[in-house]
Amino acid sequence: MALDMIAPDEALEMVLAHAPLLGAETVPLAEALGGVLAEAVAADIDLPPFDKSAMDGYAVRRDDVARLPAELAMIEELPAGAAPTRALAPGACAKIMTGAPVPPGADAVIPVEDTEPLPGGRVRILRAGGRPNICLRGEDTRRGATVLEPGHVVGPAEIGLLASVGRERVAVGRRPRVAVLATGDELVPPGAVPGPGEIRNSNSSILMAACRRAGVLADDLGVARDNKADLRARIGEGLRRDVLLVSGGISMGDWDLVPEVFDELGVAVRFSKVKMKPGKPTLFGTRGERLIFGLPGNPVSTLVAFRVLVWPALRKMMGHPEPAPPPIEAVLTDKTSVRGDRMSFVPASLRHQGDRWQARTVETRGSADLVGFSRANALLALEPGNYTPGTRVKALPLEL
Ligand code: AMP
Ligand code: MG
Repeated sequence: MALDMIAPDEALEMVLAHAPLLGAETVPLAEALGGVLAEAVAADIDLPPFDKSAMDGYAVRRDDVARLPAELAMIEELPAGAAPTRALAPGACAKIMTGAPVPPGADAVIPVEDTEPLPGGRVRILRAGGRPNICLRGEDTRRGATVLEPGHVVGPAEIGLLASVGRERVAVGRRPRVAVLATGDELVPPGAVPGPGEIRNSNSSILMAACRRAGVLADDLGVARDNKADLRARIGEGLRRDVLLVSGGISMGDWDLVPEVFDELGVAVRFSKVKMKPGKPTLFGTRGERLIFGLPGNPVSTLVAFRVLVWPALRKMMGHPEPAPPPIEAVLTDKTSVRGDRMSFVPASLRHQGDRWQARTVETRGSADLVGFSRANALLALEPGNYTPGTRVKALPLEL
């Protein structure tokens, strides 16, 4: 497998070129979260559906409160869900709660704190003249109008909007089914206390969580030991999914058997080294329409390779209009240098300050240091060189 080392942007281009669009599926609303809409959604009713009070108070005729204080006769009480039975005649008002339909004739709601109850069902209006406090029928959208376009990512607000326009199901891009496999004889589960030479398996948790955040559900295939039989069985199982993520076992060590097993199982390797730091030993292959990633064993390297190469692929497959959004332009606030000849993805803390993004590098002890890395919320893509404060840099946000 004498493939050349390729630059990260070429690697990404190759991955995206092989990532298939998975088509659409119609799912219940709760399952649409994180998905990409595959249809335009129209309102089936006006929103709001009726003129509705935005306050707890009294529905009045503006003419009646032109001179203050004014005394009005309360003709009925309208809690949310009630329908008015009468129109307001001059001198009348209705007690009304937030969300209740405004009675015909009323053109303002006076908040209760600007009123005073009087004996005999009368009310004194002390202040008026502010906003009408009425949400008008159809002011958010008209029946038949498009409220969501295809390509829109479904979040909690979109789920609420879909519910408001009467949708219980919606078409979204099918999410790829992902399998996550860790490899290594040294790995023990998070619940175990590591013995001599053992370490806890953090990559499975990282990759499962990263998939989940990307809006994709992954199956955890556990840990394969560093022998061909176990690798063959578990990788074979993983190859039944749309995407297989294997961590570890792909560098130059004697027990790094993953590439051999990929080869035996018919995976066509497209690249096996990327000119990036961390993440050099990152492998990408395909079998038919399926994508296979061999990610570096070190947890930080695995996470960086996921962000740079896997995340955009998952997004493309589920129909995202912008699978690999352009990096954020930020101003560096500290000084740093990148040695060697590889593009570095440097953990950084990115924040919006005034009208610009600022990035400060976060110190880490290398590609196994999750302690340092957990303080970062972005990666700075830096070519080798020396960087001084004020330099413009490109940042890839991690918290997406
Ligand atoms: P490898 O690529 O298998 O040689 O692994 C490189 C480094 O990453 C070694 O120090 C491994 O112990 C570590 N490593 C591999 N897999 C995991 C994992 N699932 N969780 C945490 N560390 C790992
Ligand atoms: Mg290993």
